[in-house]
Amino acid sequence: MQHFASDNYAGICPEALQALIAANSGHAPAYGEDDWTRQVSDRLREVFATDCDVYFAFNGTAANSLALASLCQSYHSVICHEVAHVETDECGGPEFFSNGSKLLTASGSNGKLTPESILEVISRRNDIHYPKPRVISLTQSTEVGTVYLPGEVAAIAETAHRNRAHVHMDGARFANAVASLGVDPAEITWRAGVDVLCFGGTKMGLPVGEAIVFFDRTLSEDFAWRCKQAGQLASKMRFLSAPWLGLLADNAWLRHAHHANAMAQRLAAGLACVAGVELMFPVEANGVFANLPAEVVDGLRQRGWRFYTFIGAGGARFMCAWDTTPENVDALLADLHDLSA
Ligand SMILES: *Cc1c(COP(=O)(O)O)cnc(C)c1O
Repeated sequence: MQHFASDNYAGICPEALQALIAANSGHAPAYGEDDWTRQVSDRLREVFATDCDVYFAFNGTAANSLALASLCQSYHSVICHEVAHVETDECGGPEFFSNGSKLLTASGSNGKLTPESILEVISRRNDIHYPKPRVISLTQSTEVGTVYLPGEVAAIAETAHRNRAHVHMDGARFANAVASLGVDPAEITWRAGVDVLCFGGTKMGLPVGEAIVFFDRTLSEDFAWRCKQAGQLASKMRFLSAPWLGLLADNAWLRHAHHANAMAQRLAAGLACVAGVELMFPVEANGVFANLPAEVVDGLRQRGWRFYTFIGAGGARFMCAWDTTPENVDALLADLHDLSA
């Protein structure tokens, strides 16, 4: 049975699996000195059309935490949205790895920061007793399934840089945002002012791993040591990096992301026709959030469906993945209709 709890419930997509198996031949240098890692880094420089610095970590919490730690000192602060993964779902990792940099939350509709909400936090205080804002962290696509437009990212980055802050993008679902917007990846990253991107691989179909992409290369000095100290330097790095080759070839990553987004649209369209169900946010990526009556939530669970209800504002969250089938979406909708009748 396919579930809607998270896109990380899905398995490895065929392209990534093939590339993984292909990398399993003979001996190769360890710790990232292998050809696969070099090739993926070069491919990512092509994808972003710029000479960026690329590192790999096992998961998103480490990628975000280490990236943020590299952007600030312990007495600095990171401004993020109140529902940001770095704030609510990383067990204090960003604070821990930065030796205490404080996260300051800002609000904003549809899970998005705005220049105004950021400025409100920045201008609250400027004395020595307040942790000095140094990083703005935004999530693309957001925790509630919405997407920042290129102009929105640029306006935030402009606000950040004007206030001498760096811009970090949590791109656990970056692929879904690129597919949704139909833009060049550069347009919503470095050309819009993003300094470092945590490019999620796991949720788009890799077995494991995220890429940390530094567009401002002055910020990645010593990053390799930071990864090693944090236990994030894979000795058999080729198995972390090689699957990216499969996904990046022929834009398989965007094809899969398009599909996941389309399944979310199908689910949203169907949900809109179920009595008593209300969509909570615009559906712009691969997630659908809905307010469901408690007995419908219970009924779905009794029928074996797994989905989260603790994320964001407390509604039911349904995530679609690269392998979500239309039949599965329709089966969920049929059960919803049945339970709501
Ligand atoms: C899944 C996710 C991450 C990464 O989580 P890990 O479980 O640490 O890999 C980071 N940010 C967002 C928004 C996510 O949804």
